[in-house]
Formats: sequence, C-alpha cells, structure tokens
Amino acid sequence: MTQAASLCVDLHVHTLYSGDSSITPRRLVEALHAHSFLKTVAITDHNTLEGYHYVSKLATVYSDIFVLPGIEASTPYGDLIIVGTEERPPHPAMPEKLIEFAEERNAITIIPHPYRAPSGLDDYVKRLRPTAVEVYNPTAMPVQNRMAQQLAQEMKLPQVAASDAHTIEDLGAAYTKINAGQNLEEILKAIKNGKVQPAQNPKT
Ligand SMILES: [Zn+2]
Repeated sequence: MTQAASLCVDLHVHTLYSGDSSITPRRLVEALHAHSFLKTVAITDHNTLEGYHYVSKLATVYSDIFVLPGIEASTPYGDLIIVGTEERPPHPAMPEKLIEFAEERNAITIIPHPYRAPSGLDDYVKRLRPTAVEVYNPTAMPVQNRMAQQLAQEMKLPQVAASDAHTIEDLGAAYTKINAGQNLEEILKAIKNGKVQPAQNPKT
C-alpha cells in the first residue's frame, strides 16, 4: 500500500458572494492554477454556497485544482464552518443544530477563529463537539490564535489552519497539511481522524 501524500488545503476562503471579499471565482481558479503547491480549497462564503458553485464550475477545466463545498454559517453565538456538503444548512440556526446537520451528511465542522471578536464562538465551543478547531487564522491576533490552540488541546480536537482570505493576496497565507489524496472523502476522513497539521506560508 502506498502512503497517502501530504495535501495542502486552504479550508477557509471567501469569494465575492460573501459580500465582504474581493475574490472573483475566475481570479481564484487562476491563482490556484498558478500557485506552486496550493491546489485545493474549501469555499466558505458567509451563509451561501453560490460562490462555491461558480468556482467549482470554473475549476472543472483545470485538472490540478480541487474545490470543496463549504459555508461559514453565522449563528447567534458566532461563526461555524461546515465543509463537505453542497446542501445549504438551516439559517438562522444554533451551532448545535449545524453540527447535527453536518454529521447527518458526513460533512465536518470547523470552529473558525474562536477567540476573534465579534464573530468567534468563544468559550461556547466547549459546549459543542465540532470536528476541528482553526488554531491559526492570520486575521486573528497572536494571543487569540494561542487561545484557539489551547482550546483544541483541551478538547482533544484536530487542529487546522486557514487563510480566511478576503483578497487574492491572502490566499494560502495559512493552510492545513492533510494526509489524504485530492478527493473529498479522503480529505474529510483525514480531518476527522486528526491526520492534519496546521501550516503557515511566510512568503504570503
Ligand atoms: Zn471567514
């Protein structure tokens, strides 16, 4: 049996459809195609999968690029990311409900920037059972990222990093090395099993 390669994945990227990002679907696929090692991303627009559909359609002509369906859902307590389903979660919904929604579809949940105010879930995460915690996000302060890492350690949850890109220059500033091939099932399984390693790109 061959050992699965270490795949670099940016699990948190916003397009124009988020309303607060300048990244067009076309610019994103061009940037991924041109990138030296980042070829796999999850599109996680705020409360919509529209951007994902455009990006994945454009990406079909590039055999090197793989796009994961995702969403950054707003809840009354903070944001929660779902990756792995093209279905739109209920909105508004409580974090517990979104985790249930994801589990029913074999998708995963990631807690983005838990201690970045105002959209982090903060200590509310301790009441939840998400799949993973985003322990490094370049838009959060170093102390907030350290607290996120501590939280993941305490809760014994897999640790991921992502760019939370809202401009094309941000793409890949942080990413996750995943012990999986470039396909949805393997990526989700590896994250669930903690076969992940947060990484930063100092060049970005
Ligand atoms: Zn975000």
